[in-house]
Amino acid sequence: MTDVSTARREEIAAGLAQVERRIAEACAAAGRPREEVTLVAVTKTYPVSDIRILSGLGVRDIGENRDQEAAAKARDCAGLPVRWHFVGQLQTNKARSVASYADVIHSVDRPRLAAALGRGAVAAGRLVTCLVQVALDDDPGRGGVTPDGVPAVADAVAEQEGLVLGGVMAVAPLGTSPAPAFARLREVAEALRAAHPRASMISAGMSGDLAEAVAHGATHVRVGTALLGRRTPFVR
Ligand SMILES: *Cc1c(COP(=O)(O)O)cnc(C)c1O
Repeated sequence: MTDVSTARREEIAAGLAQVERRIAEACAAAGRPREEVTLVAVTKTYPVSDIRILSGLGVRDIGENRDQEAAAKARDCAGLPVRWHFVGQLQTNKARSVASYADVIHSVDRPRLAAALGRGAVAAGRLVTCLVQVALDDDPGRGGVTPDGVPAVADAVAEQEGLVLGGVMAVAPLGTSPAPAFARLREVAEALRAAHPRASMISAGMSGDLAEAVAHGATHVRVGTALLGRRTPFVR
């Protein structure tokens, strides 16, 4: 009755129910239909068995942030009805690999990376959706291009045959209220959409700030901890 996998399934189901409730409440508060927001379950550091549980519970979008880990998991999960989202900082030399399995890449922040992803997507015979990651603070360690650099990266994505420009992504700055950052991101998204009308995705909001992100127009929230528990910190 209480074997380990049953217990884990119940734990994840409870986390998912709570996250679903938070998303639904945030949508209701913002006067938005629930279907406008996609939950991306960020499974980094967690095993493939958790991805299978999430899939069994109806989650269709899985996020990872390291190529090696993501590639192996995508291979193990071939046949599961899930889309793979790459949400981590991406080195150009990993672009070809990521373009071979990711359906959506949230972290495109320079033209050279867009070109490398485009070559990888074409080589793999795939069409990959790319979001421009926007830096909303002055911490270059977290990736992203400053708002004034967004059009050049967006154009570089849009001109690649194997890529589709999907919209924008951001991580809220640490240690301050996320609302101003998400408001700024929405402005950047609207400016982008004026030039690229189909680029309507806004990836914003994590476990701690998903309601604020939904209030500011997020179409995709990326949630790990609130679904799966606190990740074990590891020393690099
Ligand atoms: C890990 C990660 C998340 C999920 O963060 P939680 O706080 O665990 O929900 C979201 N976005 C990115 C880019 C991440 O690396």
